[in-house]
Amino acid sequence: MSETIIGIDLGTTNSEVAVLENDRPIVIGDGPNNIVPSYVGIADDGGILVGEAAKNQYALYPERTVKSIKRRMGSDERVVLDGKEYSPQEISAVILKRLKGMAEQRLGDAVSKAVITVPAYFNDAQRQATREAGEIAGLEVVRIINEPTAAALAYEVEHRVRQNVLVYDLGGGTFDVSVVRIEEDVVEVVASHGNNHLGGDDFDQRIIDHIVKALHDQHDVDARSQQQTMARITRAAEQAKCVLSDHPFAKIEEEYLFERSGNPVHLDLELSREDYEAMIEPYVTETLDAVHIALKGAELTVSDIDQILLVGGATRTPLVRRRLEEEFVRQPRGEVDPDLGVAIGAAIQAGISAGVSVSTCLVDITPYTFGTAALGEVGGIPTHEMFVPVIRKNSPIPVTKSELFYTSYDGQQEVDVRIYQGEDPIASNNIEIGNFRVEGLSDVEEGNPVLLRLSLDLNGVLHVTATEKRTGLEKSIKIDNSLARIGEEGIEAAKERIGVLFDGAWSTDEGSETGDSEAQQGIVQARALIEKAERLLNNASPEDKEDLVDLIESVNDAIASQNMDALKTTTAELADIIYYMEN
Ligand code: AMP
Repeated sequence: MSETIIGIDLGTTNSEVAVLENDRPIVIGDGPNNIVPSYVGIADDGGILVGEAAKNQYALYPERTVKSIKRRMGSDERVVLDGKEYSPQEISAVILKRLKGMAEQRLGDAVSKAVITVPAYFNDAQRQATREAGEIAGLEVVRIINEPTAAALAYEVEHRVRQNVLVYDLGGGTFDVSVVRIEEDVVEVVASHGNNHLGGDDFDQRIIDHIVKALHDQHDVDARSQQQTMARITRAAEQAKCVLSDHPFAKIEEEYLFERSGNPVHLDLELSREDYEAMIEPYVTETLDAVHIALKGAELTVSDIDQILLVGGATRTPLVRRRLEEEFVRQPRGEVDPDLGVAIGAAIQAGISAGVSVSTCLVDITPYTFGTAALGEVGGIPTHEMFVPVIRKNSPIPVTKSELFYTSYDGQQEVDVRIYQGEDPIASNNIEIGNFRVEGLSDVEEGNPVLLRLSLDLNGVLHVTATEKRTGLEKSIKIDNSLARIGEEGIEAAKERIGVLFDGAWSTDEGSETGDSEAQQGIVQARALIEKAERLLNNASPEDKEDLVDLIESVNDAIASQNMDALKTTTAELADIIYYMEN
């Protein structure tokens, strides 16, 4: 049996190690999520601390703790730790040694070889320093690979078809975006750009500022003067941030945060996703500016990108996904755990280097979107049938997400909750898989918030709960088989919708008399067609692909400009090419 080569993501904030087990990549760790924070410290008794323990002591003993050493790799800087000097390679080696040890424990065997990932922009000196760190840790670095390349491996991007892939990597302290060209097993990073000081930590900082200000306003105290208090606030802020990725608001509660004039001060705040998103929007815009610089460097435009892969823990932020989707008019892929994707890719590369066959590392994901109907606008037209996705397709399962909805008139004491599966912006064009009524809501003005929570488990059971926020009044239903039953019905419904286009319903001669509901219908049908066209892209010949991409763009332009004549012509052309490709 050949010797196992381990795959390592040596990150600025966190590091991970993965190996192939029964030819499948698995990430190894001893924490709750297999992540080792990239911190090294010296404990009270002089012993060495790595990972979570070192991170925990950072706020209290910064002089005895080192973080973000990756930023100094390749430089001649020395790091002072508890009075002694170390090179960046030596500090990185401590982290690598810990990862190596974890792998050995899991495998029950010694490990001496590794594939280590580095950012695409790392120069020779930085790559060499990474190799040296490996050697110091007792690892022969058989290959150094670029992080975006590892991500493409983890996402199992199809290699036979030429593709342009955008890898968007937003970690704790760094942001990197790379344009990767994949063709015939060659993965080439064509351009990359980023910001070494932008990431989830900045999002935390905005929440920390918000908390400090609230404490000042409510209790007239300056929390910044107290290190231990700030350590607790920092943790609470990061937790709230993670909650806000899945839920519309987060409670930030810390008992006995500190004492003031002999009285305990508690922290009790609620932060809405809306307010949080307003805080972090400038950072997200900054990342998109960098995306455009990378695209320019690759001499490509938004429509040349075939896939967007999400990497880095902070890409769980819904605003990040939404802004990317708006910009590229396609959903970014996030089904591989964004914290672990690079390590998984490194393990796959390790397997390839060792000549081991690698099975797919497919995760369980929901192939459908689940959501509800609400008042809103579709294509600029008001409707009570707007489909609001709660769990988006391709989310890894199990998954729980919630969204807030509001009553729409004064004294509304009942709401009908309808749950749909599908992708259509109009709820009734999707498949209704369950409904229930919540009665006995408070007799108050319109805008009474009701929280809708959807939990999808591995068996395809969807638990739905609606809760009146002010009273906690709750009603739930359980929908069995939410994934299975959809199959045939969903395909039939989709066929019907697409069928309308082929049945010539569009070749009307009403000229400019197109009514609003027809316009709305036209947009819905065009979107369904675009989705279908996007699915066909992967297996299309280069010529067809080019035509498809151009037409998708034209249809999108027509939707955006609300030009119904152009929409008719371009959708008919798109329908033609789809018809031709399918027959
Ligand atoms: P990485 O460096 O890739 O491990 O990413 C770490 C960053 O991701 C940290 O800032 C984390 O707080 C952030 N992160 C982890 N989970 C989530 C989440 N659910 N929502 C938003 N950010 C997250």
